[in-house]
Amino acid sequence: MMGKFTVWIVLAGVAWLGWTLWRIGRRRAESAASPPPAESESARTREQGADAAPGEAPPEPMLRCARCGLYLPARDSVAGARGSSYCSTAHRDLTEQAPRGPSASR
Ligand SMILES: [Zn+2]
Repeated sequence: MMGKFTVWIVLAGVAWLGWTLWRIGRRRAESAASPPPAESESARTREQGADAAPGEAPPEPMLRCARCGLYLPARDSVAGARGSSYCSTAHRDLTEQAPRGPSASR
């Protein structure tokens, strides 16, 4: 009695599975024949946006602080009196005024 019931359940499951697979295969064939144009268009705009990303700036020249040796972008550096560059005005003042008064800087 119970075995017969199980056979019917299995048969129904197999039938449902076959119907689902057939439906998925037919849907795939339809989408492959005519891909939605909106999807490819959004992919193209995404690639263009990646090319012209505002966060990706061109490589900036790096300058080295003459006082502490720290590397920093030229935009953030402080120009010294003798063509040298510093990470901050404090290091520029320390380096360029140190020979005159080392005790005054402390
Ligand atoms: Zn420095």
